[in-house]
Amino acid sequence: MALSGLDIFKLLPKTNCGECGVPTCMAFAMKLAQKKAELSECPYASEDAKTTLGAASEPPIRLVKIGSGNTAEVGNETVMFRHEKTFFHQTGIAIELCTSEGKNKLLEKIKEIENYGVERVGETLTADLYLITHDSSDPEDCLSAIKLAKEHSTKGIILNCRDDKTLREGLEIIKDDRPAILLQKELSDKDIELAVSFDGSLILTGHSYDDIDGQAKKAKAAGLNSLILNLESDNLGRQIQDNTILRRSALKKNIKSFGYPLFSYVRAENNFDLLARASALICKYASIIALPEYDKALLYSLFTLRQNIFTDPQKPIQVDPKVYPVGDPTPESPIFITTNFSLSYFMVSGEIENSGISAHLVVADAEGQSVLTAWAAGKFNGETIAKFIKDIKLEEQVKTRKIVIPGFVSMISGDLEENLPGWEVIVGCQEASDIPSFVKNVQLT
Ligand code: SF4
Repeated sequence: MALSGLDIFKLLPKTNCGECGVPTCMAFAMKLAQKKAELSECPYASEDAKTTLGAASEPPIRLVKIGSGNTAEVGNETVMFRHEKTFFHQTGIAIELCTSEGKNKLLEKIKEIENYGVERVGETLTADLYLITHDSSDPEDCLSAIKLAKEHSTKGIILNCRDDKTLREGLEIIKDDRPAILLQKELSDKDIELAVSFDGSLILTGHSYDDIDGQAKKAKAAGLNSLILNLESDNLGRQIQDNTILRRSALKKNIKSFGYPLFSYVRAENNFDLLARASALICKYASIIALPEYDKALLYSLFTLRQNIFTDPQKPIQVDPKVYPVGDPTPESPIFITTNFSLSYFMVSGEIENSGISAHLVVADAEGQSVLTAWAAGKFNGETIAKFIKDIKLEEQVKTRKIVIPGFVSMISGDLEENLPGWEVIVGCQEASDIPSFVKNVQLT
């Protein structure tokens, strides 16, 4: 039976030290009861508390790891909507390698995938996993594909092989790399034995809630916790509904057999549909999506979407507030200012670079908020900017006494000039993409 907040409170240290992020042990107990926190966030929880709370403090959705180099971690989620807290582990993107493609083509494909990454707001976005599907008649094709992936990549591998003997030989090759096995038929004792022997995760495929429930219970009874659920359906609407019901059942109804990450193989007749389906599944609870092909444009869109969904909404991605050189600025170079919201910084610095000039980019501390949000919150105005410029001793670093502010906050120009005697404030363009034409038409120094 689930423990109440009061039951949990009785097991906590009751010192109200606040180190768990809330001011009192009672508040923390309430969060634990609502599954919005984990006992490990209290550094002073006694062994007694850990034992007694046991399953009550377990994450409602298990964490599963695949791979030993670039390990893909999925699951461990505690909320339905990211604004309730945050999503902890982004959807893993797996790309399928079919053994019928042949060694040379597979090698070329693996190399291309390994070399493809997108730099965005300071992060490098890449695919996470390979799904190796044995669809040829020769077992050697399968073993060769596994060897290629292992040799040329550190990504985790999911094996999809219906032939038991070949599967076992394939697992032997990646036995130290925490493999995952995609099961296409009902879980058998042999599958359980393989997962235990090779320290692997099992992706259980079912066609109904009862089917998935039964298989998950059987695996759990055999001591397996690294499980992933694949409730199959060709209908996207049905898939989203299923994923939502499974997530809700795990989080809100505490149904343990549904408390595992979710897998979806994305099928579509064309790339447009593939993108639409994969996007919907990233938004609605797929912990891993497997794509049948490698396509840069498709991946670029999915990476961007995934990064937006899995960024902690309570912690904007920030860069350090300071002066950043763009190009090779001298003390006479122009000065731009923006906030320390990561996306603003990368867009503005990128467009200054595109314009071909060198400049000083002053990134003011606005707690990671974008320009207009920070202005509305009183964190980016004449007074705060002038104070920041004085604090970082900008006047000692540059000779220029002109500063370009974002066009969206033109209303602060007078205020800033009052707070920065001797400086001329230039109102810049509203969109970063207009910076190259702006610098051509305005005298900035
Ligand atoms: S960290 Fe532990 S002891 Fe401190 S307030 Fe939180 S629950 Fe209480």
